[in-house]
Amino acid sequence: MDYPEISFEDRMSTVDFQVSRRAHIEVDSEICNSCTTRECVHACPANLFVPTTDGGILFNYEQCFECGTCYLLCNKQGAISWTYPDGGDGVTFRKG
Ligand code: SF4
Ligand code: SF4
Repeated sequence: MDYPEISFEDRMSTVDFQVSRRAHIEVDSEICNSCTTRECVHACPANLFVPTTDGGILFNYEQCFECGTCYLLCNKQGAISWTYPDGGDGVTFRKG
């Protein structure tokens, strides 16, 4: 089955975020330093993982879809700490 291509902006415009003050995902950049595959950078649909020039990873939790892909794919034990946002916070998907 073919899915229509949608731009990053269109994808992000279909969701609302209630940003929590507590980061529900944390990334240990020290562990990322030794990661050569960087699955998270390629897999995150919200482009929240950004490689830094010193070999680490810059991560922003604010526009996370809570899909869990990064946590499933990351091959380094303990690099990602994942929880759901606190009640009432996080992503809301809009229809249409
Ligand atoms: S896949 Fe895991 S260890 Fe590798 S850069 Fe991403 S979060 Fe870090
Ligand atoms: S849970 Fe999904 S949207 Fe959130 S950071 Fe991980 S891959 Fe990106």
